[in-house]
Amino acid sequence: MAVLVTGGAGYIGSHMVWALLDAGEDVVVLDRLSTGFRWAVPADARFYLGDVGDRAILRQIFAENDIGAILHFAGSIVVPQSVAHPLDYYENNTGNTRLLAAAAVEAGIRHFVFSSTAAVYGDQRDDTPVLESAPLNPKNPYGQSKLMSEMMLRDAAAAHDFRFVALRYFNVAGADPLGRAGLSTEGATHLIKIACEAELGKRRGVDIYGTDYPTPDGTGIRDYIHVSDLVDAHLKALSYLRRGGEPLIANCGYGRGYSVLEVLEAVVRAGGRKFEIRYGPRRPGDAASVVANSTLARRLLDWKPRHDDLDLIVETAIAWEKGLAARKAGDLRSLQHRLASARF
Ligand code: UDP
Repeated sequence: MAVLVTGGAGYIGSHMVWALLDAGEDVVVLDRLSTGFRWAVPADARFYLGDVGDRAILRQIFAENDIGAILHFAGSIVVPQSVAHPLDYYENNTGNTRLLAAAAVEAGIRHFVFSSTAAVYGDQRDDTPVLESAPLNPKNPYGQSKLMSEMMLRDAAAAHDFRFVALRYFNVAGADPLGRAGLSTEGATHLIKIACEAELGKRRGVDIYGTDYPTPDGTGIRDYIHVSDLVDAHLKALSYLRRGGEPLIANCGYGRGYSVLEVLEAVVRAGGRKFEIRYGPRRPGDAASVVANSTLARRLLDWKPRHDDLDLIVETAIAWEKGLAARKAGDLRSLQHRLASARF
C-alpha cells in the first residue's frame, strides 16, 4: 500500500519522501507548489499538483493509488502572516485538514500522521521542558489552527475506524546529511536559515530579537531539532499506527535548548566567517524559552534521535545553502545561455 505525503515538495515533506523511499515505501505526493518546489520531489515518488482542499484531486489520488496512510505536512506556517490573514490560515490549516481527514475516513484510510507545533502551548511559565499535558494557549492563529486540527482528529478517531499521531514540532532545522533535501523557501524567517544566509554573504547580518530575556545570556532559547530526526519520528509513528497504536499527540524536540547567541556562534564555527550581529528589541509574541519534553515519543514510538548536535544541524544547513546558491547560479547561466542562443 502507498503512503500519501501532502506538502511533499516542501522543506520537511521532501525529507519525508526521501526517508520513506529509503525505507522501501511506495510514495505519492500531493503539493500545490505554493512554497515547495517540483524539483524537490524525488523521481521515484508519484507527484500530483493540487490543493489538499480539492476533493476532486483527492478522489483521483485514492482511485489511482492504493493509499494506506496519509502523512499531512501541507500547511501555512508563518506566524505574523497568520495574524494578518487568520481566515486563510483557518482555511488552509484547519479547513483543509478537516476535508482531508473526512476523505480519509470515507475512503477507509485508517492511518494519519499530522504536523502539529509547539505553538499550541503559547507562553511557557518557566524554562522546564514542556510536557504534552501542559496548558494549551496558542498565542496566534497559526497555533490555534493547528490545535483545532488536533481536536478534530481526536474526535474523528473516537467516532470512526481512524487512528492518528500528531507530532508537535519544536524548532526544525538543518538539512539531509546526504545533501538531497533542505530548506529552499525564499524569505526565510527562521533563525538558522537567516544566520546561514548571513554566513554565506547573502544578507548583511542578523538581528537578535531581544537581549533582556530571563535566560543566561539574555537571548531567547529554543529546542532545535534536526529535520532528519523529525522525519524519523514520522516513520516511527507510521509503524506505531500499523501495529495498532492508539491515537497519540507527542512532542518532537531534544529536550535541550540553545540561545540565539549560541546558535550564531555555531554558525560562525561551521562557516568560518564572522558576520554583522545587531542587537534589537524583542519580537512581539516570542517566548523566552521553548524546550520539549519528548519522553512520550521516545517511549511509545521508540524514537531515538541520531542527530542531536547543534554543530551538525548548522553544518548541514550551510551545506544546503551553498548548494542552493550553486543551483541558482546554474539556473542563471542556463537562462543566459538560452537567451543568448534565442533569436528575437
Ligand atoms: N530570532 C532572532 N533573529 C532572527 C530570527 C529569530 O533573534 O532573525 C530569535 C527569535 O526571537 C527566537 C529564536 O531566534 O528566540 C528562534 O526564532 P525562529 O523564528 O527561528 O523560530 P520560532 O521559535 O519563533 O518558531
